[in-house]
Amino acid sequence: MQTSDLIEKYNDYRNNTLNLQASENVLSPNARTALSSDMASRYSLNIGEYNAYGGTGYYDSILELLEKNTKKLFGSKYSESRPLSGHVAAEISLLSVLGDNRNVMAISEEDGGYPGYSSNHLDRVLGYRFNDVPYSNFDIDYDALESKIRETGTGTLILGQSMFIKPYDMKLIQEIKEKTGITVLYDASHVMGLLAGKAFQPDALKYSDIVYGSTHKTFFGPQGGIILTNQSDLAERIHENTIFNTMDNVNLSRVASLSIAVEEMIKYGEQYARGVVENTRNLSIYLRDAGFNLLPGSEESKTHQLLLDEQFLRKKGFDYHSFSVELEKNRVIIDRFGRIGTQEITRWGINSMDVVADVLSGISNKLNKTEEINTLIAEKKLRFW
Ligand SMILES: *Cc1c(COP(=O)(O)O)cnc(C)c1O
Repeated sequence: MQTSDLIEKYNDYRNNTLNLQASENVLSPNARTALSSDMASRYSLNIGEYNAYGGTGYYDSILELLEKNTKKLFGSKYSESRPLSGHVAAEISLLSVLGDNRNVMAISEEDGGYPGYSSNHLDRVLGYRFNDVPYSNFDIDYDALESKIRETGTGTLILGQSMFIKPYDMKLIQEIKEKTGITVLYDASHVMGLLAGKAFQPDALKYSDIVYGSTHKTFFGPQGGIILTNQSDLAERIHENTIFNTMDNVNLSRVASLSIAVEEMIKYGEQYARGVVENTRNLSIYLRDAGFNLLPGSEESKTHQLLLDEQFLRKKGFDYHSFSVELEKNRVIIDRFGRIGTQEITRWGINSMDVVADVLSGISNKLNKTEEINTLIAEKKLRFW
């Protein structure tokens, strides 16, 4: 068997599954075509007034269009749409704000924060000391936050999580910011599409210095990252830290594909994001009606995510991993640590959350749900493009 055979098998397989993975989405045919265009193997290096590579005229126009539309979509003054991933966008943003103060606070991995910020990852690479945000019951402890910022001498606070179900109180964050002088970064990797569609945390950019994150989780884009800010000095540092500090060539075909995704978001983002949040709410209700428990306190999710309760799964003879494996055998895909996302099925036009709940709950009870799964998969018809 050759690679091309495996790719064909892969595509067939994915077409016949239901993807509920919280960090993924599906590309529109137009966004996908852009990825396989001639740009996929080209170079570009915009250095000030001109491009150091020849033959880049049309690409330069695409990049310009992308930045113009990104700013329009998010209502930001500046944007940087070239980072190859959300992680790289985080690295560029941190490089642009960390000065002499190397004390950074973010939500810990145990509380659903992004693992890359601590445990000898970006903290080691960028040379900062990590402290965790006081957090309990899926919320920041805002009183404790202010005193901990003072005690630890924190200069930069990163908001945003990988397990993300609730918006922050940005007015309180702003008060703490004014009192302590911290810089606030908002990692919107998981919720970028919901921000774009104004269905979640509409004040993220207003009260943060920089908003950044992945373009492929709830957003419609290919794998990558974007950075947004309203401050010209920060924008300048962000651009400086992009080329030759964190990347050399950017993926030109990714830029073209993202540009298509941003156009789709401008047209359909609000409708899509509203649908995602509504599907999450309905799925949560139907699951609980079916006697399927979610992680206590996470039931009222305001995002695309629902969090499974491992204690509950154990009563059914599963843990996070084995439940995910069991679902996969049934052509339903989730990750191995208990997250469910409604963003991709919403884009596929699936809104029968009663059936999705019946499938998840039924499989937890070791029932055969083949017929229901076939019905859902047959319903897949890509929307919002
Ligand atoms: C996924 C994620 C990242 C990393 O994004 P990639 O695009 O995978 O590099 C960073 N922060 C948070 C909160 C995430 O969930």
